[in-house]
Amino acid sequence: MTEAALRQSKDKLSKLRHALHRVDEDNFGICKRCSKAIPIMRVVLMPQSPYCVNCAQ
Ligand SMILES: [Zn+2]
Repeated sequence: MTEAALRQSKDKLSKLRHALHRVDEDNFGICKRCSKAIPIMRVVLMPQSPYCVNCAQ
């Protein structure tokens, strides 16, 4: 495994942990602006964003 790949994996892991930490919140996976469900893959990739793809633009 290269160092870059390892770093990428660690980055993904920390994002996942961040997402998992927010599962306890009532509004987890719900867009703060339009109140629609945010696709889980977006939540995992962008756990710091409380908005869906449309509202984040
Ligand atoms: Zn939205």
